[in-house]
Amino acid sequence: MAAAESEQDPSSPSGEFLSFSARDTAQRWLAASDLKQEVYRHLALYVPRILCQGTGGRDSREEQREELGCQLLLLAPLEWFLLGAEPGAGLAHLQQNNRPSALCGHVFKVGEPTYSCRECAADPTCVLCMTCFLGSVHKEHRYRMTTSGGGGFCDCGDTEAWKSSPFCQTHLPDGGEAPEDPVSQLSPDLVARGYSLFSILLKYAVDLLTGDQQDQQDRQDRLPEGLEPPERADTYFCMLFNDEVHTYEQVIYTLQKAVSCSQREAVSFATTVDRDGRKSVRYGDFQFCDQAKSVIVRNTGRQSKPLRVQVMHSSVVAHQSFALKALSWLGGIIQYSDGLRRILCQVGLQKGEGENSTLVDHLMLNDSKMWKGARNVYHQLLMNSLLMDLKFKKIFAIQFAKNYRRLQTDFMEDDHERLVSVTSLSVQLFTVPTMARMLMVDQDLMGTIIRTFVDQLRHRDLQGRFQFDRYTAQQAFRFQRVQNLIGDLKYVLMSPPDQWTDPLRIKFLEGLDAFLDLLRCMQGMDPVVRQVGQHIEMEPEWEAAFTLQMKLSPVISMIQDWCRSDPEVVLVQAYRKVLSMLSQSSGGLPDGEQPLSLVLAGHQVETFRYQVSQERVSIHLPLCRLLAGLHVLLSRTEVATRFPEQLPLGELAPPLLMELPLRCLVLCAQVHAGMWRRNGFSLINQIYYYHNVKCRVEMFDKDIVMLQAGASMMDPNHFLMIVLSRFELFHVFSSADARKRYRDNKDLVQQNTLIEEMLHLIIMVIGERYVAGIGQVQPLDEVRREIIHQLSIRPMAHSELLKALPENGNKETGLERVIDSVASFKKPGVTGRGLYELRPEWNKHFNLYFHHYSRADQSKAEEAQRKSRRQNGEDTALPPPPPPPLCHLLGSLVNLLQCDVLLALEGAVLQWSVEPGGGSWTESMLQRVLHLVAMALLEEQQQLENRCGEEDVTFSYTCKITRPGEAPSSSGSILALLESLQNAPHLEVHKDMITWILKTVGTIKTIRERTSTSSTFTVSQGAGPEETGRDRDKAERKRKAEMARLRREKIMAQMSEMQKHFINENKDLFQQSLEEMEASTSAAEYSSPSSALTCASKVCVGPRRVGGADLRQLVTCILCQEEQEVRGAGKAMVLAAFVQRSTVLSRNHTCTPEPAGRDPVFMHPDLPVGVHTASCGHIMHATCWQRYFEAVQVKEQRRQQRLRGNTSYDVENGEFLCPLCECLSNTVIPLLPHLATPGHSPDPPSLEAWLQTTSQLIAALHTCRKTPEGELEGAEPVPEGFRLDFSPQPFSSSISEMITTFSLAVFKVGLKVEPDEQDGRVPVVGWSTCAFSIQSIERLLLDEDKPLFGSLPCRQDDCLSSLVRFGSACWTSVPQNTVYTHFSRLLAVLVPDRRVENSPCILNLDMFHLLVYSVLSYSSLHSLDQSGRSSVDVGHLHLLHLVTVAHLVQVLLTCSTGEVCMDQDGGGSEEEQLTLQLYCFLRKHLSSLPDVSPWQLWSRVKAGILPFLRAAALFFHYLNSAAPPADLVAGPGQWESLCSFLSLPPNLLLLYQTHQDLLDPLVLSWIQHPGVPPLLRGGIQHPGVAPLLPGGRVTRFPRESNRLIELPEDYSVLINQASSFTCPRSGGDKSRAPTLCLVCGAMLCSQSYCCQTEVDGEDVGACTAHTFTCGAGVGLFLRVRESQVLFVAGKTKGCFYPPPYLDDYGETDQGLKRGNPLHLCPDRYRKMERLWRQHGIPEVIGHAQEANQTLVAIDWQHL
Ligand SMILES: [Zn+2]
Ligand SMILES: [Zn+2]
Ligand SMILES: [Zn+2]
Ligand SMILES: [Zn+2]
Ligand SMILES: [Zn+2]
Ligand SMILES: [Zn+2]
Ligand SMILES: [Zn+2]
Repeated sequence: MAAAESEQDPSSPSGEFLSFSARDTAQRWLAASDLKQEVYRHLALYVPRILCQGTGGRDSREEQREELGCQLLLLAPLEWFLLGAEPGAGLAHLQQNNRPSALCGHVFKVGEPTYSCRECAADPTCVLCMTCFLGSVHKEHRYRMTTSGGGGFCDCGDTEAWKSSPFCQTHLPDGGEAPEDPVSQLSPDLVARGYSLFSILLKYAVDLLTGDQQDQQDRQDRLPEGLEPPERADTYFCMLFNDEVHTYEQVIYTLQKAVSCSQREAVSFATTVDRDGRKSVRYGDFQFCDQAKSVIVRNTGRQSKPLRVQVMHSSVVAHQSFALKALSWLGGIIQYSDGLRRILCQVGLQKGEGENSTLVDHLMLNDSKMWKGARNVYHQLLMNSLLMDLKFKKIFAIQFAKNYRRLQTDFMEDDHERLVSVTSLSVQLFTVPTMARMLMVDQDLMGTIIRTFVDQLRHRDLQGRFQFDRYTAQQAFRFQRVQNLIGDLKYVLMSPPDQWTDPLRIKFLEGLDAFLDLLRCMQGMDPVVRQVGQHIEMEPEWEAAFTLQMKLSPVISMIQDWCRSDPEVVLVQAYRKVLSMLSQSSGGLPDGEQPLSLVLAGHQVETFRYQVSQERVSIHLPLCRLLAGLHVLLSRTEVATRFPEQLPLGELAPPLLMELPLRCLVLCAQVHAGMWRRNGFSLINQIYYYHNVKCRVEMFDKDIVMLQAGASMMDPNHFLMIVLSRFELFHVFSSADARKRYRDNKDLVQQNTLIEEMLHLIIMVIGERYVAGIGQVQPLDEVRREIIHQLSIRPMAHSELLKALPENGNKETGLERVIDSVASFKKPGVTGRGLYELRPEWNKHFNLYFHHYSRADQSKAEEAQRKSRRQNGEDTALPPPPPPPLCHLLGSLVNLLQCDVLLALEGAVLQWSVEPGGGSWTESMLQRVLHLVAMALLEEQQQLENRCGEEDVTFSYTCKITRPGEAPSSSGSILALLESLQNAPHLEVHKDMITWILKTVGTIKTIRERTSTSSTFTVSQGAGPEETGRDRDKAERKRKAEMARLRREKIMAQMSEMQKHFINENKDLFQQSLEEMEASTSAAEYSSPSSALTCASKVCVGPRRVGGADLRQLVTCILCQEEQEVRGAGKAMVLAAFVQRSTVLSRNHTCTPEPAGRDPVFMHPDLPVGVHTASCGHIMHATCWQRYFEAVQVKEQRRQQRLRGNTSYDVENGEFLCPLCECLSNTVIPLLPHLATPGHSPDPPSLEAWLQTTSQLIAALHTCRKTPEGELEGAEPVPEGFRLDFSPQPFSSSISEMITTFSLAVFKVGLKVEPDEQDGRVPVVGWSTCAFSIQSIERLLLDEDKPLFGSLPCRQDDCLSSLVRFGSACWTSVPQNTVYTHFSRLLAVLVPDRRVENSPCILNLDMFHLLVYSVLSYSSLHSLDQSGRSSVDVGHLHLLHLVTVAHLVQVLLTCSTGEVCMDQDGGGSEEEQLTLQLYCFLRKHLSSLPDVSPWQLWSRVKAGILPFLRAAALFFHYLNSAAPPADLVAGPGQWESLCSFLSLPPNLLLLYQTHQDLLDPLVLSWIQHPGVPPLLRGGIQHPGVAPLLPGGRVTRFPRESNRLIELPEDYSVLINQASSFTCPRSGGDKSRAPTLCLVCGAMLCSQSYCCQTEVDGEDVGACTAHTFTCGAGVGLFLRVRESQVLFVAGKTKGCFYPPPYLDDYGETDQGLKRGNPLHLCPDRYRKMERLWRQHGIPEVIGHAQEANQTLVAIDWQHL
């Protein structure tokens, strides 16, 4: 059935393309009397034919045909009709005459960067697109950069969005005002045609998209009148719609079952459904589709609501698709002309009959019924039309506001995310201040939003308060969605009006009424009762209430801002309203609660019985707190200073005002004191958030304010007595014998904490004056004080400080405006981040009892402050800083300090402190009392100093504390108590403070005496400064000793931790002590040969070399601590090592994974994939290591049984962590003894003789075979002294075993195959890791300008030396004839051998690999020489010479450049002439070589061959344990010493010249290889471009160093690049997680279904898949949208790494949350590059995973 559709029938559109004329059709329409009928007829005929979208799986040709048909047959006539001309010309004409409005209006794509100016934007929602931003002045300002979530548009040109500079260069109005009515610019004909066409099309689209045909099956197929297709076929679609309930997996699984499609198709369906909101999954007759529908419904309906599926007639679907195309077309057309745009707006908002009759209303009100794709299209159209036309934007806004409640209610019922709901347009309308005001006045917008919000939260308790406990999931979902309304409210209130009008006042106050109703529902919600006896059974839900509070906090603050801007009317009215609401809601408070009379210190007060610890108490008191906020604002007004009696203060008695906040504060104190333990974590969390920066402004802070307000209106003694009573401490201070309290009190500790908390509260009530309105301060003073106290804890990064400060509605904290005045900035290094440090001059503002400190903060800050003061030689007492003066309204607060009740409290605590110990008092308690005393003294001193004239100072604290204590504490005066405490030995810590107090008392006395004669008291001065100085020293010494002890303990703990896991497994192995363990961290026991030898010869290769065999190597096993000498016949010692494949040296990142049967004998000069070996340098016995590794395996098995998931190492692949340093390892390298220095034979064979013997030998080996008797015989003669059957066994079995172990490990990793001892490639891969590791280290040393020798860390030195010695011995563990074969093949490259076929050409060879392989394999051949005539070194030297000459030729062949500079007469040096000679020889046979001057040739040869010589020097140095010459150790090696070390002449050409007769034929054979000419042609055709690709292009020397890709300096450039990146797999979709490969620069679509691929049978994400082609399994990526670097190694391992981008404060922004501009930090990027080039990525991942084992596992492979 489906197949029938795809057959071409004669009526298919393609046939009609030719005969159809859009022009004629348009003409016909023009002539028609009923245009609508004509157009509909046309659509009815063509739409179903053209747009018959199948079910996917269509090829792109079909799609193109559809697209083309749509354009030619449907849209073109519309354009012809509208424009009355050829569309192209007509549109150009329109655009030319357009006078566009100055708005940019660029609609943002998902992930596109947006910019907001923090200085000029009206609010944070005002943003610019990148183009506009770069052309604006704001790029010089403080700006914020974010990525768009999609939707929304550029505000450039909107004068209301910007406080200044609203235009970028492009959108700057060009003087000429945009015309008032743009329609008047168009010809009347065009206007008429526009009206009629737009009405028809818009109506058509609206009808099709909003028609309620979806409700009933029988109606769903009905098309609007006039659109029925001529013939109605039985063709249907089974349409699947998306929802937010079912997961991708569920949908994919169901689809596979229901429409029997492949996994791949199902994924594609699911992706489209998710993106567009619907997708047809089956096409055919009705029954066929209906059947699929029932399967889907049945399959998904079991657990939840079934997936929405609908069978729809094909003509309906076709018309719906065209409706969307028509809307997009309209959106496109109006871009050309503001006149047409306005016509469309008029059509859209034309009223019909009744309310909501416009087409736009229809769309809006049906929004939630449409599928996602349709919504997106029409939202886009709204943005392009109505929102771009200022006049109609307003009309639209009114309609939107009118329908607000209904739209929001629809949205609540809908389950789509908000982004695709029409309600999300509110941000475009409400953030325009004039618009918001207008809507507020005309449409009561504020009240509407709030009431809609309240209506949605229906769960209430008996008192009408919100009830969030026992919320169901569905209610939680609703709650989540309804929060968007608060966002809208925020937009409306964002900026307070500059000008109030009476209507605005009325509407605002009405809105406030609604808001107060909302707050009343919150007042007292979620009350708690202290649980005694039993722990609560279920943690109550608390988060919803706090979420609500948190979301409303900015609104509450904004409402206060609005009130403040009209203090005379609105503020006073609002205050009254809140007050009356509060007295209504707490009217019943004292009722039923019995009055209680309290008497203390001669004062009496009435209060009611209430105990927080026994009755209900709530943290949520928004009404009280709003009142507190308004009270502060009143206090700032002039009225408050001059006529406070006119303020509406008297309605509630002060004790009632402060009652609820006080209860809440007492609750916190009791929780701290541990009285509420049985109420569980829910309460602890609530208390935490109450104080947290996100909530405290409208919670904790306001409660303190309310207490301050209450206290200022009361007798201070009464206030304190009520506080005492609420803290349930009254009896403690009122009873005649306070000592009784600790005789039989079980809860003494609790009570002590309560007393501390209460004293702290009193300190805060009197001392916290940094709110404008409480104290006489500026708003910035508050921020500054906040910062000072944060920085007093420790230096902090910018983001840390920001987090500690509350944000205002504009997301600003004010930090930047004051930070530089109080702190100095310290730049970050290559790691870490920039830090702000408090300038010392601000230390004096430090207040130990700062109200926002937690107890932990407080003690940290105290310690830091004392330390800093000690360092500066200052007094370490921390007296309170001088407070700012109080505002008039709260002036009486200071009297608290000297009231009788407080004095009684102070006296009591001081009295208790006389007795050391006993638990009756605490240090904190005393410290707080001393602080209070000091505050009182400061107050008195300030008053004395500031008084004018003879005015009497009413504050006489010094006088009062000299009075002897009254009952109940019948003791001495406070002053006397202080004096006696000063020298009490148990109060050493407080001595400084007491001394300070007594000194201040003295000062005050002096001031008073100077001016009056009244006071007569004596003060005994405290101890002299010397004494305190001495004590300080003593204390300091003690502290240092303690620190040292702690440090020692920590180190010991670390050490033991390191080894614990191993010790646990192998208890018996450990007899040695920890100290010895520490001493053996490296193989430091043997002295390195490089330093031991000072022999003058300094030659590393050839018969003249000096070896290191006479050095005894003593090493210690890190596991058993036994010492052991490295000997060939001894017990094997091994080095932990990590082997990995590497593409780090390759310039080509597109190689496909090579086949498993690869022949590794020849390495391409691009070094496509190498095998790298590294080691941490830790040595073990082979047997100890084996036992350890077995233990690791067992442990891993046990772990896997317990829980799933990956460890940081993969035991199955042989991975383990080094038992000492936890370095990731996957094998061990055996340690082998040094080679012996050769005995000097008098006459080493010449090159010629050697070559001859060697060829003879190879020939003999080639032909020989074993006779049945086991004898060897061959056809060729064997050279004299050679024994073909000799097979030496120089190593003990344990060492041989380890050689095999390591060989196989390298083999397995290097070739990605299963280990196979019989495979002839085993030794080759072993040699290759020697060569590759040396090459990569040589490269690093060269690039970092480090000397070749002596600069390597010890562990690398050890690694390379054991690696090379292993390489020289690995032939002993494999069948010898495989090694002979390798050698003969290698030699045949240089010396032609007719027996060897398919030798590669020298241009396709890396000469260093060739050298290493041939030298290492030669040992095997040479071992047959029993003649003793020549040493193996002779062979090495000849091989080196041969390879060097070959490399010379290779360099000369490839050194040509485009610039040819002939300089024949230069004469030049001997080197140049000889080079030219060889080059001419080459040119004679290869005519394609260009002319190059001899000077150029020689310099290129020298540069090109240098890396080879350096690598060779390293190789022979390690192979032969030869000491390097001093200048190669000390500095960058000089050419001459390098050559002489390698036993080469400095003029390398002499190598060729001296053996020219022998070499010329060889050279000829090299360049006549058939592979040479094509390679050279490829290379020469592209001069300047480095030829990289193996097979086809040629590699030049020296090879360029590999680098990570260049990154742009400005991060937003990357974001912009990524935002236009589309997923390569799903047809032009935006990628969700665009990710950049830092190695090759490829952009990938990561972390997404669409781009998963299979690698070795496992699904992996795009990044992991990419690493296998780009980095041999290792990859570095930048996740652009997250600003995060991703390291990946293998299929399961990865980690995140800080990106190399920093903001101006020296911090990274992982997740792009803060939005500060980010710039590239080249140092950090280089550091990362070095890490990569050093092959350190797997190691970093290992450490990161080891450190984060407890975190939720990330599925690295799917990234
Ligand atoms: Zn723009
Ligand atoms: Zn602009
Ligand atoms: Zn600006
Ligand atoms: Zn051991
Ligand atoms: Zn180690
Ligand atoms: Zn993708
Ligand atoms: Zn790549």
